[in-house]
Amino acid sequence: MEQTTQVNDQYSGRSVSVEDVIYPTTSDEVRNLVLRASAMKKPLYFVSGGRNWGYGSGLPVQDGSTLISLEKMNQIISFDRELGVIEIEPGVTQGQLERYLDENGLNYYVPNTGAGPDGTIVGNALERGFGMAPIENHAQGLLCVDGFLADGTPYQSALSEVNPKLGSCFPMGIGPSLDAFIPQSSWLVVTKAKVQLIRRTEVCDVMILPFARHEFGQVADLLQQLSARIDLPTGGFKILNQRQLQHTLNDLPDVVRRFTPRSDWTLAFFIRSSKRLRRPICSEVAQIIKDLKFDQHCSRWSDGKIGRAQKLVSLLPSSWRSLLQTPLIDLAELHRLGDGRTSMIGHKILKPEHGLLWLSPLCPLSSKDIGALTRIVDRWERMSADNKLPFQIATQTWTVLNQRTIALVLPLLFPLGTPLDFIHKSYAHMLEELRQHGFSPYRFPSDTMPYVTEMIAPRYFSLIQRIENALDPDRVINAHRYHA
Ligand SMILES: Cc1cc2nc3c(=O)[nH]c(=O)nc-3n(C[C@H](O)[C@H](O)[C@H](O)COP(=O)(O)OP(=O)(O)OC[C@H]3O[C@@H](n4cnc5c(N)ncnc54)[C@H](O)[C@@H]3O)c2cc1C
Repeated sequence: MEQTTQVNDQYSGRSVSVEDVIYPTTSDEVRNLVLRASAMKKPLYFVSGGRNWGYGSGLPVQDGSTLISLEKMNQIISFDRELGVIEIEPGVTQGQLERYLDENGLNYYVPNTGAGPDGTIVGNALERGFGMAPIENHAQGLLCVDGFLADGTPYQSALSEVNPKLGSCFPMGIGPSLDAFIPQSSWLVVTKAKVQLIRRTEVCDVMILPFARHEFGQVADLLQQLSARIDLPTGGFKILNQRQLQHTLNDLPDVVRRFTPRSDWTLAFFIRSSKRLRRPICSEVAQIIKDLKFDQHCSRWSDGKIGRAQKLVSLLPSSWRSLLQTPLIDLAELHRLGDGRTSMIGHKILKPEHGLLWLSPLCPLSSKDIGALTRIVDRWERMSADNKLPFQIATQTWTVLNQRTIALVLPLLFPLGTPLDFIHKSYAHMLEELRQHGFSPYRFPSDTMPYVTEMIAPRYFSLIQRIENALDPDRVINAHRYHA
């Protein structure tokens, strides 16, 4: 009888049995593994770092695969200073890239996420992850890749075959774009990638606009205006719900409350510009905000201003100091993320006794649609309070993905030990409700695969299945990820 190993995901409480866990260090080793598995029709499950926390971590969708972690293939191969293109292996983490850039005096943004320095660049982009630094939508920064198909055939992006440099210049390539078919797919293992990096601007200011729920329409207006203006270098738009903070604030002395936003919601975004252009850009943005007549003022924070506020607070008596320090530390971390550095601030939502699943529905950037989605979330919160859903919705964060789309990211926390079929019945219930109202998440936990694609877009995913079957008839690579 074959020996199997159990691998666990502390975030979902799920465990899967795998035949082996292998850590190759070269692409030749990867090719040999693929060739052997293909000959024996055995499934392989590839991860870059396996830290897809809240989306299944590094676990295969089903029992019986060999898990292959590419985390030891972590070479930064080259950096083209002229084009801002970095060539990396899949195991390169955000923290490693940040150190490399700092050590080499390269002033570029790291494509970061709330997952912190241990998340990989390639794995996150292949999942279509997003973050706050430009380019926010990480799959868009993926210029070209090398890898292997299930029968061991090497894959190179179209123009890389002509000239590797040209391949990274024009990712659309020629003919149908197969590169566009790589993120969230399961027909190719990626062993190398070129990623576009963006040079850091001279100044990065974070703008903080507290607002009340009835002002969501004005915020949608503001976001549409700002994201449509090519003359205004604004980005990294996040709407954060502050209910948790608000609960804490109610217990605070009045004097402290005066320094902190008194609204349920905060819009944060970044102005990134040269020193020379900072003033006219900021006054243009301030004018747009003023015209929309919000109840509260927008404040602008540079890293210098945050540093000065922190110094000032450090001089206060200790009772006040400890209360004011936390919001300032959070603000500094938010600024770090917007400035393309790594931060662990996202982990504040985690508790050791809780599991986590993300639910991240996409929404048209219009006040009507945002209102409809908000009402669904209100209903879920009432159901959670009545124990009809096992989840606590820890925070609500809305992220602008482009001029037309905003994604609501909900971390669903649940007590570890809750029966997994209750978790999935509830998750499926929430998905169904989203679908009925015309919403869909942009990304799914791997253990929801058996029901997700059938529920969300069955016709589309059956076509994907036909195409992937042609490329990988024995389902050797990442079987069942993103189709049933
Ligand atoms: C507190 C917290 C905050 C988070 N914030 C964010 C956030 O802001 N943005 C965000 O996007 N995510 C976020 N995440 C989710 C997740 O942790 C990150 O996306 C993380 O970067 C994914 O893990 P990884 O980079 O190790 O990718 P992996 O787990 O290695 O890869 C993800 C998936 O991609 C496929 N894949 C990976 N590598 C390959 C390869 N070489 N060839 C073929 N297929 C491959 C596999 O299907 C794999 O399961 C957060 C998680 C937590 C807990």
